[in-house]
This record gives sequence, structure tokens and C-alpha cells, in this order.
Amino acid sequence: MKTETKAGLYRKLPSVDEVVRRPGVESLVSQEGLVAVTDAARAVFASLRDEISAGRLDEHGIDLALSGLDHAVERRLRQALSYSLRTVINATGVILHTNLGRAPLAASALEHIRETVGGYSNLEFDIEAGERGKRDVHVDHLFRKLLGEASPEVSTIVVNNNAAAVLLALNTIGEGGEVIVSRGELVEIGGSFRIPDVMTKSNAVLREVGTTNRTRVSDYERAITEKTRLLLRGHSPNFEITGFTEQPRLDELVELSRKCNISLMEDLGSGALINLDALGVTGEPSVLDSLRAGVDIVTYSGDKLFGGPQAGILSGRSDLLARMRSNSLFRALRVDKLTYAALESTLMAYVKGDHDAIPAIRMMRLSKEEIGRRAEAVAGKVQSSSLSVEVIDGESVIGGGAAPSAVLPTRLLAVSTEGVSADELAARFRLSTPPIVTRVEEGRVLLDLRTVFPEQDQDVIRTLIQIAS
Ligand SMILES: *Cc1c(COP(=O)(O)O)cnc(C)c1O
Repeated sequence: MKTETKAGLYRKLPSVDEVVRRPGVESLVSQEGLVAVTDAARAVFASLRDEISAGRLDEHGIDLALSGLDHAVERRLRQALSYSLRTVINATGVILHTNLGRAPLAASALEHIRETVGGYSNLEFDIEAGERGKRDVHVDHLFRKLLGEASPEVSTIVVNNNAAAVLLALNTIGEGGEVIVSRGELVEIGGSFRIPDVMTKSNAVLREVGTTNRTRVSDYERAITEKTRLLLRGHSPNFEITGFTEQPRLDELVELSRKCNISLMEDLGSGALINLDALGVTGEPSVLDSLRAGVDIVTYSGDKLFGGPQAGILSGRSDLLARMRSNSLFRALRVDKLTYAALESTLMAYVKGDHDAIPAIRMMRLSKEEIGRRAEAVAGKVQSSSLSVEVIDGESVIGGGAAPSAVLPTRLLAVSTEGVSADELAARFRLSTPPIVTRVEEGRVLLDLRTVFPEQDQDVIRTLIQIAS
């Protein structure tokens, strides 16, 4: 048999122009546009030329490749046009998983976004007066309904995230002066949020007091000078210092702040809007608790225990918040209409007491028994001699730096198979469609259905059956 030279093989490749006119490819052009299809065809040819040049394709190989050309172009096109950001199934049992987007949004929030954001809205327009309005009016009155019990004057503004909220507050109140913080509260939060760094950027000077494990209110008092602008209480969300520790009680700090006429701010971080004790999430002060205790400004995230969109929320004394609103940093840190729409409808669920509408809260409320029933139903669908699927006791966690010591009893699917490591098994879950993110513990893959939406149980079953075969 005569073998073609490489030059002869190259000549067999049609031109890109010819390919995009082929009937099988033309329909792709009308759906996705000529530019994208041309790019995909070029990429397919580039890899064919590489194969020829490396001597991996003979005449027969080329003929085979050319017979599947339309498919190859379509595959390349789909790959190039697929989104990078996509749905994953969170089977880790970590409700506010920072890497998986923290709090899922309520269905009503998605609906409100859909109806207001695709067109024009009154984002900054006062419909009655026919004049320019303020974007924060859409949520301020709802926050006041929820927090007004602390003080009828309470006011709220929203920025991009809680790190931005802390920056804005420190810059507005502390710039050119000193802010007093306990050494025990100078922690780094995931994603490299460090109070000392934010303090530097805000042009306020950090005055550290006390020691890592013990700080008394007298330490704050001794550090107060005419330069002091603010007392800052932080939270150490990712860990708990236990044993021989002491931080002043909030009411002691409030008393000191009133006596010296220096504002007190609390960076709550998580910012629960309701008391979560009944759900087993203890030790997490709510926004209302802090405001009631007399804290002047509270900062918290929108996508942690609040259960809404990414945002940084500042609630407290309206005179201080008015100063923050007129700070030029506020303009740089403000949020867009998507965030206001999502916040407004999440707040509406709180106002109506419809806490189950908020996915993060609904997941916290799920009982171990209910999760166990779903887990048994999933395990029952997977009969396999190669894959072991057991339902065992375990614990879910809140995550997102919230309530580090809170554990929610749950039932887990424990999956293992002979001759395949747990890490390899976890990779197979991740590579399924949609990807399933699990936990690996003690040589087993664990799936916690607390954070899996019930309508996703079918996907979990399908993937288990696939992995088993
Ligand atoms: C999470 C957290 C932050 C950072 O909030 P982001 O919304 O992620 O910017 C700051 N302070 C505390 C105490 C936190 O828990």
C-alpha cells in the first residue's frame, strides 16, 4: 500500500470555508454565529495538523477523522460556548460553603430579580414625586421593620460585602484617629480578610489592647485618648479560643462607650436576623441582640446566616450611617439592582415570618429523621455488589465562619468500593454532571443530603448507579 507523504495528508484537509458551508455545520452557524463556528473548525484543524505532524495519523486515520468532522466541530463549539460558572450539588453538609457560593438565594429572590432587572426599574427614581430617589430606600424600611424594636431610629445601608462594610465604617468614623480593638479579636477570616490590613487602608490607626486570650474593659479604658474615634468589637468566626479566656461583655463595652462618648461598632460577620437557638445554632448573637444591647453600628454579611445575596450590611445609628452614605467610598462600594432585588425579597420573607423560603434557614431546620428518610430512599435505589452505600449518623456544619461550634445532627450516605480510594471515588462524583461535591472521611466518601435540594436527589441516585457500574 502506498503511504501518503505528510504534505499529501495535509492536502486532504478541506478549507475552513468549505467546512462551515457543509449542511451539517451550516445549522450550527445559524444557531451560534459564524465567528464561533469558524473558531471551532480552526481549532479542530489545528489539532489534526498536530497529529499529522507528529506522525500519529496515516491516510486511513485522516479519512476516519474527516468522516467525523461535523461532530468534532460541534463538540469543540459546545465546549467553547459552555459556561464556566455552573451548578454543582453541595453534598458536603456545609450550609454556607464559601467555595460553593455561600447562601443559595430564595426562589422569590430569583423571581424578583427576573421581573425587575431584565428591564428598567425605579432603582433611583421616586415614582410619586417624579424625581431622583435613593437606591437604599428599597430595603431600609424593611430593615427598620425587623430591627426597629432596638430603636425606631435604626437605619441601614448596603455595600458590596462585609469587608467593604468594615472598611467604610472605619474610614468614616476612624480616619485620622485611633480605633481600639482587643488582641484576641485580631483574626484572619477566610479569603484573607484581616482587621489590621483593612484598618491601614481606612487611614485609621489600630490601637491593640489586652492579650490574645484575655482582654478586660479596663484595657480599653486605659487606651482611650483624645485621638480615639471608635471602639471595635470583632468576632473570631473560624475558631474558638477556649479555656483561660476573657473578653469584656458587650454591655460593659456599651457602658464604656457611653461614658466616654465614643462610638462602639461590632463586626458581627454572620449577622443572624432571627434567633437560631431553637435550630441548634447557639452562641450566634443576632443583629437585633447587638443593637438592643446598645451597639452603635453593626456590620454583617448578606450571604451568611442572613441567607441572601453577597452584600455587606451596616445597621445602626442613623447619624453615623448618614455620614457613611456621604463618604465618597460609599459610591465606590455600592451594590447594583440585582443585589437590592435579592435583598428586598429575602427581607420580605423575614417580615412575613416565612423563614422556610430562605434556603439556608430551611436547611438548618431539616431534622435528622427527614434527612435520614431521603438518604435511605437514595441508598435503596442503588443495588450493587461493587459499591457499598450505607446510611450512618453524622453532623452537618453551618460554615461561612458562622457558629463554629454549632453542629446539626444528620444522617449521611457513606459510599465506598473495593479497590478504589476514597479520593478517587470523590473525584468521580465531582466529574459527574452536575458535579457532586462530597466529604472524604476515614477512607469513605460521605454525602449529606441536608445541603442537597430534594429535587437533586435523582441526580445523586443517577450518579451512584453510574459509579457502581
Ligand atoms: C465573613 C466575615 C467577614 C467578611 O465578610 P464578607 O462578606 O465575606 O466580605 C468579616 N468579618 C467577620 C467577623 C466575618 O465573619
